[in-house]
Amino acid sequence: MKHISRTQIADLLIREDFGAEVNVKGWVRTRRGNKQVNFVALNDGSTINNVQIVIDLAQFDEETLKPITTGACISVNGRLVESMGQGQRAEIHADELQVYGTADPGAYPLQKKGHSLEFLREIAHLRPRTNTFGAIFRMRHHLSYAIHKYFNDRGFYYFHTPIITASDAEGAGSMFEVSTLNLDQLPYGADGKVDFSQDFFGRPTNLTVSGQLEGELGAMSLGAIYTFGPTFRAENSNTPRHLAEFWMIEPEVAFNDITDNMNLAEDFLKYLIRYALDHCKEDIEFLNNMYDKELIERLNFVLENNFVRLTYTEGIEILEKSGQKFEYPVHWGTDLQSEHERYLVEKHFKCPVILTDYPREIKSFYMKQNDDGKTVRAMDVLFPKIGEIIGGSEREDDYEKLMTRVKETGMHTDPIWWYLETRKFGTAPHAGFGLGFERLMLFVTGMANIRDVIPFPRTPKNADF
Ligand code: ATP
Ligand code: MN
Repeated sequence: MKHISRTQIADLLIREDFGAEVNVKGWVRTRRGNKQVNFVALNDGSTINNVQIVIDLAQFDEETLKPITTGACISVNGRLVESMGQGQRAEIHADELQVYGTADPGAYPLQKKGHSLEFLREIAHLRPRTNTFGAIFRMRHHLSYAIHKYFNDRGFYYFHTPIITASDAEGAGSMFEVSTLNLDQLPYGADGKVDFSQDFFGRPTNLTVSGQLEGELGAMSLGAIYTFGPTFRAENSNTPRHLAEFWMIEPEVAFNDITDNMNLAEDFLKYLIRYALDHCKEDIEFLNNMYDKELIERLNFVLENNFVRLTYTEGIEILEKSGQKFEYPVHWGTDLQSEHERYLVEKHFKCPVILTDYPREIKSFYMKQNDDGKTVRAMDVLFPKIGEIIGGSEREDDYEKLMTRVKETGMHTDPIWWYLETRKFGTAPHAGFGLGFERLMLFVTGMANIRDVIPFPRTPKNADF
């Protein structure tokens, strides 16, 4: 085959230099036609749109054409031609064809359209080749980039916090232990407990549940930082909103109070939603039409409205007066369930909500204590269809108060001595939050299950691929 450098289909479809010789490579979506001419819809992942390859059967022998079936990977040399068909500007009239890889029609699982999302999860190695997952994973990329851009443009530093840690950041959830000990022959100490001094790190370690504690060290030196990395929680909660491995974005800012923190969270979320609408238009339109007819409307609604801000105590009053029957009863002091959060957002306010000042007992030890002796300066951002999308707080910067909470909650101080020291040396007010990247992805794609917005979901009893 003649060498012509490859054009991505996304670029090709907006070209107007008709007559040019081009090369495209990609995977066959469909092939149809008659005895004179065949049409191949080819996709290379650069866009949700396929390019149409027009094949004049008289120009090719049967042997070349036979393996060009759905799923096969081919390279095409041809001429760019203005398309007569609807909805496409350009097509390619093939001069030369090469098959890189065949896909046996009897075995390739993505023959026809309309597979269930459940089935597609079982073929996670192939699902990125569907329109739906192509759209979602392109959006994942664009939003990842937007997150870095947002913070970079505003003077935040990307701070790399460890994946393996010896501290349980906040008791945020059960942890995956990291060990090189032989499970069949564990060494025991005199006290009958596993002797971790013989383990790789010489102590118990686990996969991080949050980069926050180390992130705070970054904020107390660089001023404003963010983390964006994988996070692990061994919570056995099989819900459409929990993964065992997910990605979290955690900004932490010196001198910010809870109001600054709320303003940052709201501005950040709106920026990302606006970015998705501006840069992923065709993919969002596809998802809107296929899965969630109110998606674009909902995204615009969030952009156009101020988030409602109220205290936990006020939220509880509304829930108690609602007359609504909840699966989990609700009263002051209980942690809010997704059903309560969604009632406030979807039924009561019909708007994103930021709840603040939660009871101390249901929140983490590091949150700044209010003067009332009962509540802490926590803030959760609650979104329609999702419930909690962000959890954050102003941090306790007073050493004595922090230590009191540490003792009350029965935490071990030795794994976090370094964290506690920041309150001794140049302590300062500061605040931050964690945004679950996949929760954001659920919101901007309109998908209903968190397993469908990450390429290879990790959930209880499932670590395939
Ligand atoms: P939830 O109550 O929904 O389990 P959480 O209170 O445990 O959330 P945080 O510890 O505050 O959550 O974590 C910060 C953010 O990380 C959450 O607001 C959410 O967006 C995301 N998140 C938490 N747990 C998970 C999970 N298992 N899978 C995906 N995202 C998660
Ligand atoms: Mn949780």
